[in-house]
Amino acid sequence: MNQVNYQKELDQIIGSFSAACGEKPPVLFLHSCCAPCSSYVLEYLAPYFAITVFYYNPNISADAEYRHRVSEQKRLIDIYNAEKKGHFISVVEGDYRPEDFYETVKEYKDCPEGGERCFRCYELRLRRTAEEAKLRSADYFGTTLTISPLKNAQKLNEIGERLEKEYGGIRWLYSDFKKKGGYQRSIELSKEYGLYRQDYCGCSYSKAEREMQKRNSAAGQEPVS
Ligand code: SF4
Repeated sequence: MNQVNYQKELDQIIGSFSAACGEKPPVLFLHSCCAPCSSYVLEYLAPYFAITVFYYNPNISADAEYRHRVSEQKRLIDIYNAEKKGHFISVVEGDYRPEDFYETVKEYKDCPEGGERCFRCYELRLRRTAEEAKLRSADYFGTTLTISPLKNAQKLNEIGERLEKEYGGIRWLYSDFKKKGGYQRSIELSKEYGLYRQDYCGCSYSKAEREMQKRNSAAGQEPVS
């Protein structure tokens, strides 16, 4: 099956309204996984959209890590608003109920990162984003997750497209933010603003996988994934 270039789809969406100067910007309800990933995405999208960042990540283990990531997200948004990087950016924090994550992935917990466990985790977060976007009458909903080389952009866009049809009245913002050097730019911005960059995705399984990789590399073995 041919892979779709979702960056091109995003360019087309932006191109369809960016020429209309003076009009109110469309409202984007944007799921964000963390401050570093959102750094490039917000820099890129804030000139075109009125963005509300939705910090909804019940997958994160544990509470202290979750709090740290939220506070870095809010700090970055304050900086961007002070620097007037584009339209004003708001932030909404979703429920932090790790039990919802564990219930969602319980049958897939032993899958390696990048497999079915992650697809369920994507859908949990995107579904909640779509629900909230609809309640708030946003024009679009989307996610920062496609910036990561470790995330499956094809799958994320397929889920978003399906939720758009299911919920109706809100449009999925296609993306593949790692294209056009987005991932590299997020590293530069994270350095510039001194953002905390975690070394594992978020859940206890990814943390254990990462720790095993570190032990293996210390012992001179190949990483496991
Ligand atoms: S590795 Fe990341 S995407 Fe996959 S299940 Fe864990 S938190 Fe979710």
